[in-house]
Amino acid sequence: MSDPTQLRPEALVSSVNAAYADFDVEIDHVPDRAESLETAEKCLQELQNLRVKYLGKKSVLAIQRKLIKNVDPNRRGDAGANIHKFADTITQRIDAKELRLRTFILRARTERETIDVTLPGRRPRPGHLHPITLMRQRIEDIFVSLGYAVEDDREIETDFYNFDALNIPEGHPARDPQDTFYTTDGFALRSQTSTVQIHAMQRRGAPVRMIAPGRVFRRDTPDPTHNPMFFQVEGLCVDRGISMSHLKGTVAEFLRQMFGAQTVTRFRPSYFPFTEPSAEFDFSCFKCGGTGCRICKNSGWIELGGSGMVHPNVLRAAGVDPEVYSGFAFGLGIDRMAALMYGLDDIRLLFENDVRFLQQFY
Ligand SMILES: [Zn+2]
Repeated sequence: MSDPTQLRPEALVSSVNAAYADFDVEIDHVPDRAESLETAEKCLQELQNLRVKYLGKKSVLAIQRKLIKNVDPNRRGDAGANIHKFADTITQRIDAKELRLRTFILRARTERETIDVTLPGRRPRPGHLHPITLMRQRIEDIFVSLGYAVEDDREIETDFYNFDALNIPEGHPARDPQDTFYTTDGFALRSQTSTVQIHAMQRRGAPVRMIAPGRVFRRDTPDPTHNPMFFQVEGLCVDRGISMSHLKGTVAEFLRQMFGAQTVTRFRPSYFPFTEPSAEFDFSCFKCGGTGCRICKNSGWIELGGSGMVHPNVLRAAGVDPEVYSGFAFGLGIDRMAALMYGLDDIRLLFENDVRFLQQFY
């Protein structure tokens, strides 16, 4: 007679078998090999879920294990062995799959972190100097070879250096076309590099031979030939007995070195407040040689800059005695020259920093 309160071991075995059958289906759905690191990690998580579901505290196996005490003591051994066998099998099957996946993940991670030395490198994009800098360097090279020093100075100036010392007193009509930008403290952005001449003469006295390339500012509306900020180079030579012929010889030599030995220079009388006499200088067109073309507007000549003998008032303002020393000065626009050399019809292109434009000139 069997005790009706006792559980039949067959019932226990069949529940465990049913649970194992479910597990068998589920574990087969987890692939042995994954496509990628990400899917492998997902599979690993699925295995962990199966472990909890079939071996955890709330699993069928755990519940059945608790019920063993209700089985006839003589048959408990078989029922227990059955549960034990399935628990072992489930553990082994999950472990085996997990090992394969972990191996795959390890290899995939190593591969991901390895540098493939056979891949082509990323080519560095070499830069080059701005066309205005290139032009400035060419000009500097020529004047340095003629014995000139290259001077640099501040871009924010007082009225004295920008106007008064250059013989442009308050109310002088020449202040108008040179109108610049002012700060609230009575300082101004220099409207010409001539300010550097005054600083250089004050600092070094006479004799002096220098050029001053740099940025200058004018209150101009930008158009194809004007920009509120542009580049000038200014030259100054002060010594005993300096005359107009020295000026002409120097400018002519500079232009020959710049545009070729056949270049002809001409001077036209002009007016500047800081020189007396004053002259503008042109040179024979480097493109057509003087016969007339688009660049020289069919005149055969290209206007380039202004020059003259330094006004005695300017020498005096810089502390140089005009009774002993005389000198000449000249100035020209670097951007204008770059525009001429490179055939640009709009100087604003030089300041827009568009790499597609700039990379054409080096
Ligand atoms: Zn021409």
